[in-house]
Amino acid sequence: MTTTKLKQISGLSICFFGKGKGKTSAALGIALRAAGYNKQVLIVQFIKGDWFSGEEKSIKKLKSLKLKKMGLGFVGLGNDVSILSHRDAADKAFDEVKKALLGKRYDVIIADEILGAIKGDLIKEKKVLGLIGSRPANKTLILTGRPEYPSITSACEMVSEIKKIKHPFDKGIGALEGIDY
Ligand code: ATP
Ligand code: MG
Repeated sequence: MTTTKLKQISGLSICFFGKGKGKTSAALGIALRAAGYNKQVLIVQFIKGDWFSGEEKSIKKLKSLKLKKMGLGFVGLGNDVSILSHRDAADKAFDEVKKALLGKRYDVIIADEILGAIKGDLIKEKKVLGLIGSRPANKTLILTGRPEYPSITSACEMVSEIKKIKHPFDKGIGALEGIDY
């Protein structure tokens, strides 16, 4: 665009998807940036269970960031959690995101791995589309996850695909503390 005067806005719908590493990191990068302006950020984690990650510790040090881990782990990965319990957890996570989006407290709301929750048949794609549509103009909603949903990428205003070029995992190398978790 070559206009000299750019329109200023105060919120966006953002989607980070794809098979490469960097979706959650990108969302957390925005959270860190937003915190610098004392914006209130809520991060709701779908899918992932009780596993520890470095950001959990860092988030506790920052007053404007709040993390809610609401998933029960990966669906069908040998844990004895029924699909109904997974759906219930995903519903609750969805309600937290919606409440934050429509409420006063938060400026930035991150629905981490919400796209994976659709893929796992825990949440309906339409419900997520409704969420994007209900975003007040002054709030930022960030959706992450591996799968691509064309309806969702059309509905979001800023979309980046994180494409995998290489990943050490393919050479049998495990996740690295402070980098991957
Ligand atoms: P990150 O949290 O590091 O930004 P991500 O959100 O893009 O990663 P997820 O799909 O949420 O990736 O996967 C979570 C974990 O799997 C992270 O530890 C990440 O480093 C790792 N990972 C991401 N992409 C791949 C891949 N293509 N192959 C193997 N492991 C991956
Ligand atoms: Mg992620």
